[in-house]
Amino acid sequence: MTHENATLMNTQSTSRSTKAIIQMNRLTKVFATESVETHALRGVDLTIYDQDYISISGPSGCGKSTLLSLLGLLDSPTSGQYLIGESDVSHLSVNERAEIRNQHIGFVFQAFNLIDELSVLENVALPLRYREPALSNADIKQAALDSLALVDMSHRCDHKPNQLSGGQQQRVAIARGLVGKPTVLLVDEPTGNLDSKNGDAVMAMLAQLNKDGMTICMVTHDPRYADMATRKLHLLDGVIADEYQFTTPLAAAVQEAK
Ligand code: ADP
Ligand code: MG
Repeated sequence: MTHENATLMNTQSTSRSTKAIIQMNRLTKVFATESVETHALRGVDLTIYDQDYISISGPSGCGKSTLLSLLGLLDSPTSGQYLIGESDVSHLSVNERAEIRNQHIGFVFQAFNLIDELSVLENVALPLRYREPALSNADIKQAALDSLALVDMSHRCDHKPNQLSGGQQQRVAIARGLVGKPTVLLVDEPTGNLDSKNGDAVMAMLAQLNKDGMTICMVTHDPRYADMATRKLHLLDGVIADEYQFTTPLAAAVQEAK
């Protein structure tokens, strides 16, 4: 073993958190219409540890979006078990799912999904207005400002989304995802609508957020960005076919800096 490999393995064993925050056991999802059944997920086993940065890649149709929507409690599995912390959230009503989602999940989408009529600050504040009605206006505003500061967008809080570049809009969307202090940030193709310069900046921001302690699970088809995660999953035909850890010097460096 070379010295470099030894350092890498050492980093892995000392800095990797062992606190499991999410567990999926033999999770399946079947979409049934009158004529066809699509087995989108065929038995996913996945444990997400505190402060993980996971990337999920795989060919179109392999189940990436389905997996992310189950993780985000936007949908229920057909069979199998899904735990967040100690709670079994496999089979909840729509309302129960929404409650747990508000508590634990932040989302970032490819298309930003910001509301053009609202200011940047109000866009970021919006999730709190729904989930924390007891919070005062001042507290909500402060939380939104704190979240915008994390993505270096405080100076644009009075702008409207359409006055910002795509990269800036995605940073605002990340701030909105973070504002409720989620257990995990779920990110779906965050650079899909960005040029490479803005894409790189958004990816650097996600790496920094992970370094500061945020647990991230990201779908991406871009191998360069998938390599920035510290755990890289490859999904094929509805199952996790491969997992790599700290495969690149960049991922190792991000991990080592923690
Ligand atoms: P990916 O995101 O990897 O491209 P998806 O998770 O979107 O893949 O889809 C996995 C499979 O499930 C595909 O065959 C897709 O057509 C099917 N599928 C996804 N959502 C639905 C749905 N709501 N109804 C029926 N089939 C679906
Ligand atoms: Mg998809």
